[in-house]
Amino acid sequence: MARRKIVAGNWKMNQTPSQAVKLVEMLKPLVASDEVDVVFCVPAIDIISVVEACKGSNIKVGAENMYFEESGAYTGEISPAMLTDAGVEYVVLGHSERREYFAETDLTVNKKMHKAFEHGITPIMCCGETLEQREQGVTMDFIRQQVKVGFLGITAEQAQKAVIAYEPIWAIGTGKTATTEQAEEVCAGIRQCIREMYDDATAEAIRIQYGGSVNGGNAAELFAQADIDGGLVGGASLKEEFGKIVNYR
Ligand code: PEP
Repeated sequence: MARRKIVAGNWKMNQTPSQAVKLVEMLKPLVASDEVDVVFCVPAIDIISVVEACKGSNIKVGAENMYFEESGAYTGEISPAMLTDAGVEYVVLGHSERREYFAETDLTVNKKMHKAFEHGITPIMCCGETLEQREQGVTMDFIRQQVKVGFLGITAEQAQKAVIAYEPIWAIGTGKTATTEQAEEVCAGIRQCIREMYDDATAEAIRIQYGGSVNGGNAAELFAQADIDGGLVGGASLKEEFGKIVNYR
């Protein structure tokens, strides 16, 4: 069965709640699509206004992070139940910026993966190598480790619903996109890793996105690859161009 493409915007730390509503209103007609799942992953404070603004459209709302405890003395954190109650269906976990600036590790990502599934939230788990790792030829070893630890204890049934975003760190926000061949090679390698950890059915069902300077000009070629099931898009998700990426065909 063909996998349905999924294109998610990662707004990062951009858009106040009132700006967010204006952006949704601008993008809504441009990202209308029956063929592709469209997700806006937005800052926590924007979630309520974005969910409201997206009502009646094809857009699903995601968070950019989430904590792995249910509730309690974790000042400043957001729980999975808070997200689902607000209407969130997806959560980005382990983005390289969270790994770099907020001490996120494969193990904390794994705890969050479990919590997301417990609450019926679809995780978009990010992985990706630095330029140094690519130059040293250890890209696939590093990413296999991120995937193996991230999915520790996750069942095949859960894994089939997950999304993995392959985002080479050197391509994020730099305007430097991985070549189609580089992106496909790693996404195929991730699928093979899932096959080894689970089975063929899980490897064929799981969706793997490419992220890293995706734009209106390169989306069609990237998304046409056998193992690339859409994109996680940063900068271009805040512009009209996001409509071109969603409707890349
Ligand atoms: C991202 O934030 O996940 C990302 C891929 O950013 P950009 O598209 O701006 O490179």
